[in-house]
Amino acid sequence: QWMKCSQENRQLRRYIQEWKGNLRVVARIRPSLFGNECNNTALRFIGDDMITCHQSLDSSAMSFTFDQIFPPHLPQDFLYEELQPIVSSIFDGFHSCIVAYGPTGSGKTFTVFGPDGKSGVVEFAIRMLFAVTDNDPSLVATISMLEIYNETVRDLLSEDPMASLEVREDTTTGDVFAKGAVGMEMASYSDALRIIQSGLDFRSTSATLLNISSSRSHLLCILKIRGGNEHIGSLYIADLAGSERVTHSHVQGERLDETKHINRSLSCLADVFSALRNQQAHIPYRNSRLTFLLRPALSKAGKAMLIVHVSPEEHELSETIQTLRFGQRARDIELRPTKSQGNSLFGQLERLSLKRQYFSIDSSS
Ligand code: ADP
Ligand code: MG
Repeated sequence: QWMKCSQENRQLRRYIQEWKGNLRVVARIRPSLFGNECNNTALRFIGDDMITCHQSLDSSAMSFTFDQIFPPHLPQDFLYEELQPIVSSIFDGFHSCIVAYGPTGSGKTFTVFGPDGKSGVVEFAIRMLFAVTDNDPSLVATISMLEIYNETVRDLLSEDPMASLEVREDTTTGDVFAKGAVGMEMASYSDALRIIQSGLDFRSTSATLLNISSSRSHLLCILKIRGGNEHIGSLYIADLAGSERVTHSHVQGERLDETKHINRSLSCLADVFSALRNQQAHIPYRNSRLTFLLRPALSKAGKAMLIVHVSPEEHELSETIQTLRFGQRARDIELRPTKSQGNSLFGQLERLSLKRQYFSIDSSS
């Protein structure tokens, strides 16, 4: 049902996107870990782009609209279909990014790396890149894997992965990079998977060494395509630190520092999204390592997709609402169809919303 009703909508929204700008915000709801999503009556999907939440039985519903919603149990392939234009834009010279946002346990790593570390968005992007570079020996694909923990940047593919790297800017090209980070050449698809696995393995070893949870750091995979000596395009894929609110009264010392750093960098990210949306002259990239490193992709010339992840469990509803709010703020829809704009695209959009099919999780089978 979801597939049928959304095909047309998606096609249309993709046109609108082309016309509207370069930041898309989508939401993904993971399946319940207890097979319980049907019991959560507080969370409902309307059409394929709106979620409503009831915080309590007698409260009115809050509604959140996104460019697309990916309900529980929807195969990763549907996400890939949405990502395809972003990944292929790398060959058109774009610097683009795909950012996974959400609290710990909401499915970010599942989206980015898959349940086995080799079947998520990163693997999909690499598969797409190799489909092109395999037929053009002049193109070279490289990968970097950086971890940002407490505003310290580490290179997960380096021989000395505990060393902290400086973030620098090349003032002539405008490129921002972690100084000394390895851009490892990927000889083949299987070579690429091996490299990623070594980065992920190091991510968990270093977390153990530092006695932290890997969900408290941001992970950035940077795929680049080079033709000869020329840098063609790049794709940044971020598996962000958990966005859950940790109240300061519950943490002390190092954990408090960690929490402050995560909160700060995620709010910097929101600031950058909102400055971009509002076309502000000054975009505050430099306020965090995360946004500074993402700067080449988070620009007017880039394409960005923010995937907000939420859990379907009832007991996580308040975290879910916070997360949806973040996504909604990033999307900050200022271009809404109105009657006075008789553009055919708008007319079509209006017709579509009229015949929108309503269904909730329990009727989606
Ligand atoms: P996060 O990285 O946000 O902390 P994870 O990706 O580790 O969350 O997901 C938490 C758990 O939920 C994992 O056991 C994962 O396999 C499972 N999970 C997450 N998303 C999905 C999904 N779309 N389908 C099936 N299982 C999922
Ligand atoms: Mg994770």
